[in-house]
Amino acid sequence: MEKRDIIIIGGGPAGITFSRKLNKLKAGREITMFRPEPHSMVYCAIPYAIEGLFDPSKVFKRDELVTDVGVALIRRSVESVDFENKQVTDDAGEIYEYETLFIATGASPMRPPIHGADASNVFTVQTGRNMADIMAKIEGGAKRAVVVGAGAIGIEQVLAYEARGLETWLIDMASHALSNMVDEEMSEPLNTALEAHGVHAAFDAKVVSLDVSGVGVNRVGLSNGDTIELDPEKDFLCFAVGMKPNTGLFNDSALEMTRDGIVVDTRMRTNIPDVYAAGDCCAFYSSIDEKPLGGKLATNAVPMAKIAARVLAGKDDEYPGFFNGAATCVEDWRIGSTGFTAAIAESRGIETIVGYGETTTLFPMMPGAEELKVKIVADKKNMRIIGGQVLSKLPATDKIDVITLAIQRRLTLKGLSKLSYSAQPWQSFFPARSAIVEACENALDNFAAKGEPFHYPDLVEWV
Ligand SMILES: Cc1cc2nc3c(=O)[nH]c(=O)nc-3n(C[C@H](O)[C@H](O)[C@H](O)COP(=O)(O)OP(=O)(O)OC[C@H]3O[C@@H](n4cnc5c(N)ncnc54)[C@H](O)[C@@H]3O)c2cc1C
Repeated sequence: MEKRDIIIIGGGPAGITFSRKLNKLKAGREITMFRPEPHSMVYCAIPYAIEGLFDPSKVFKRDELVTDVGVALIRRSVESVDFENKQVTDDAGEIYEYETLFIATGASPMRPPIHGADASNVFTVQTGRNMADIMAKIEGGAKRAVVVGAGAIGIEQVLAYEARGLETWLIDMASHALSNMVDEEMSEPLNTALEAHGVHAAFDAKVVSLDVSGVGVNRVGLSNGDTIELDPEKDFLCFAVGMKPNTGLFNDSALEMTRDGIVVDTRMRTNIPDVYAAGDCCAFYSSIDEKPLGGKLATNAVPMAKIAARVLAGKDDEYPGFFNGAATCVEDWRIGSTGFTAAIAESRGIETIVGYGETTTLFPMMPGAEELKVKIVADKKNMRIIGGQVLSKLPATDKIDVITLAIQRRLTLKGLSKLSYSAQPWQSFFPARSAIVEACENALDNFAAKGEPFHYPDLVEWV
C-alpha cells in the first residue's frame, strides 16, 4: 500500500485549480491526482470543435498543467473509498492511503429513462468519446439531428449541427429557450434567430417515445403529437437535459449527500474529517437566498477549488454561494445571465420588480452598431438586485459581470443606478445612457408608478 499526502479524485477544472493553487500557496504537500481519461478537456469549446472552427485536439488540455506543478497523475479511476481507514482503491486494485482527500469527480449528462435512450445513435455531450462519435455521425452522412434540451449546452449543439448542414430539431419542455437564464420575453429574439437558421424548435414539448429499428432510433415521438423521422444508421439524437453529480462511488458511505451532490460547508469541508470536495460533484446554495441551487458551471468549480486550497494551506476563506453568471450565443446574439430570472425568483417565493434598458452596442451612427437589451431583476422587499439578463450583438459577459458584482455587493436598484460608466463611439452607446443604469431607473420608475409606499425596514442605508 502506498501512502500519499493529498489525493485528488478527478482532473477537471476543480481538481486542476485545487492542485495549482495549493502549489502556489507553497503548502508543501505532495499531491496525487486520479483521472481516468487520457486528457482533461475544455468542455465549453466542444460545440465549436464540432462546428469545425478549429482542430478538435485543441479541446484537450495538456497534462503539464498539473505535472509541471509536481502532481503525480495516475490515469486510473478510483473504484472505492474507505473513509474510516483513509484509503482509496483504484480500478487496478491498488490501494493508496491518504492524509487528505479532495473529491472533484464532477457531474455527467443525464439521459431520461425512456426506452431507446441508450440506442447507438443517441448521445450526450461531455467527453472526447462523445465529441468523436458525434463528429463521426456528421462526417458519415447524417442529414438530421434532434437535440433535446434548450439550455446553453443544447443550443450550442444544435447550432453546431446546423452549421455543418444538418436539418435540426430543438425540443424542450419549458416554454422558451434558455429558461434557466432568461425570462420568456427576453428569449423572443432567440426564437427568431433559431427560426431564421432553420432550426425546428418545439417548446412545451417532451420526448415521449423513441422507436428503435435495427441499430438506432428511427422515430422520435413528442408530447405535442409530432413525430420526427430519423435514418437509424446515419442520423442521431443528443440529450442535453441536465447533469447529475458523479457520486455513485460514495453511495454506501457516511459521506453526506443530496440528490445534487456532496454537502460541503463554506470552506469546502464535507462531514468527514480531512475530506474536502468542490465543483460539479457538490450540492451548494444560492448566495442570494441561501436555498439549494444547481450551479454546475466551471465558473463555480474554480472558485470553490481555490477556497479548498486556501483553507488546506491554513488561510481562512469562505465560499459565499452560487451567483451563476453564465453566457451563451444564439447565432450572432450574445446572451448573458446572472442571479435569478424573474420567473425563478418568483418560484422561490421572492416578489420582484423588473426594469429594462435598451441602447445600441456602439454609438448608433457607427458602422456595426447593434441592439443591446438589459433586464434587471430586484427583490421588491428591499430593492436589492437579484438578477440580470443581457442580449447583445457584442460580448455580454462584461455587463453580466458588472451586475453580478452588484448582487455580490448587495446593491439596491438605486445603488446600481449610480454606476459610473465609460463611453466611446466604437465601444458603447452615447455617454448619455448606459443600458444597465437605464434598466435600474426603469425598474424604480415602474415601482414608483404603482404608488406603493417606500419602506425598507432591513436596509441600513440606501446603497
Ligand atoms: C458541453 C459543455 C459545455 C459547457 N460550457 C460551459 C461554459 O461555457 N461555462 C461554464 O462555466 N461551464 C460550462 N460547462 C460546465 C463545466 O464544464 C463544468 O462545470 C466543469 O467542468 C466542472 O468541473 P469539475 O472539475 O467539478 O468536474 P469535471 O470537469 O466534470 O471533472 C470531473 C473529473 O473527475 C473524474 N472522475 C469522475 N469519477 C472519477 C473516479 N471515480 N475516479 C477518478 N476520476 C473520476 C472525471 O473523469 C473528470 O476528470 C460546460 C459543460 C459541458 C459538458
